[in-house]
Amino acid sequence: MGDTRYLIVGGGMTGHAAAAAIREADPDGPITMLSADEERPYSRPPLSKGLWLGKPEESVWLPDVARLELRAGTRAVALDPRSRTVQDDQGETHRYEKVLLATGGTPRRLPFGGERVIYFRTLADYRRLRAVEGKRVVVIGGGFIGSELAAALAATGKEVAMIFPEKALGARVYPADLAAFLGRTFAEKGVRLLAGETVAAIEPRGEATAVRTARGVELVADAVVAGLGIRPDTALAEAAGLDCADGIVVDERLETSAPGVFAAGDVARFPSVVLGGRVRVEHEDAALSQGRAAGRNMAGAAEPYRHVPFFYSDLFDLGYEAVGSLDASLETVASWKTPFREGIVYYLDGDRVRGVLLWGIFGQVDAARELVAGRVPIVKSALEHALP
Ligand SMILES: Cc1cc2nc3c(=O)[nH]c(=O)nc-3n(C[C@H](O)[C@H](O)[C@H](O)COP(=O)(O)OP(=O)(O)OC[C@H]3O[C@@H](n4cnc5c(N)ncnc54)[C@H](O)[C@@H]3O)c2cc1C
Repeated sequence: MGDTRYLIVGGGMTGHAAAAAIREADPDGPITMLSADEERPYSRPPLSKGLWLGKPEESVWLPDVARLELRAGTRAVALDPRSRTVQDDQGETHRYEKVLLATGGTPRRLPFGGERVIYFRTLADYRRLRAVEGKRVVVIGGGFIGSELAAALAATGKEVAMIFPEKALGARVYPADLAAFLGRTFAEKGVRLLAGETVAAIEPRGEATAVRTARGVELVADAVVAGLGIRPDTALAEAAGLDCADGIVVDERLETSAPGVFAAGDVARFPSVVLGGRVRVEHEDAALSQGRAAGRNMAGAAEPYRHVPFFYSDLFDLGYEAVGSLDASLETVASWKTPFREGIVYYLDGDRVRGVLLWGIFGQVDAARELVAGRVPIVKSALEHALP
């Protein structure tokens, strides 16, 4: 039996942020981290962006946390909140005072294709895709990961085809004219877009892989990569009897329904007055801020988490930051300085701003937060001309 004061399950960005915050608050308390990943903690966003554009692989490593006992390649398999113990898959039992579940999520998979499909999430996935020598890549999914990867791969000279069910690239997120512009940009950069399409079959074709769409188009590829979203990794929490609902339910202090058990990051469903009810956010700022908040609270701070996370994405020479809900089914009002290059899109629900997309505009996240929080009254008819 190993005794520790703080046990962190999950060695992603959330777990790392928590360990760093605990160490700041408690210089000597023992911290143990169990991480199913073979690698020490690293930053995920560069895996679909910077690393393809010349950033060195070493740039992803997160800074070491002093006196952190990291058990990489070790999975927690059982949690007992009453005896305050966790068992790992190496047969060891860890007794803790406080535990953080920062287990993130597992990529959704297709029912076929097996190991021929790279479900892109980890550094190992990046290395596998990077090692592919052939030029033909099929990207399945038109969300954040699929779009970023398609852009990054095209920029490195790959022949990329994208398959996604929406009628236009980003149609669920951006207003129709911006989605159409994005589609044109991808096409100009040589990405073949198969919009309104789903994958019906994936089969070996010699060394290559054949991907057949529901409409009967066949693409032969040297690599098939998918970004179909994630499922929060709640198995450990559910088996321990913790409240879960598409994520581990936490209170304002990021504590779960079991005392002493915290959850944060992609896996946590947290209360947010500003974002409306209980939400789960799968973005870096949420991972880092919740990791830090959970870490401080595990070390005794008892602070409410009220941060409104922002998120960002890069696609070729386009990039944005955003706050709140980018749901294209909401009413949208756009204010462009330069059409589709620099501007703001507001997502409205009546007179409430639910989301702000800062397209090509940086450093305005706090102002966007104020708008989404409803702290700044808006005049709807003036939004279109809101940019100075
Ligand atoms: C390729 C990529 C690009 C991204 N780009 C952006 C971006 O541009 N902007 C943005 O805002 N966000 C981006 N994100 C999202 C952001 O990186 C995530 O929100 C963040 O990494 C989530 O961190 P996490 O630690 O909560 O979860 P994860 O990263 O999923 O980490 C959880 C860790 O826990 C481990 N684990 C799970 N179960 C167990 C267990 N039982 N025992 C031990 N270990 C376990 C897993 O192996 C994993 O290492 C990107 C994500 C990816 C994958």
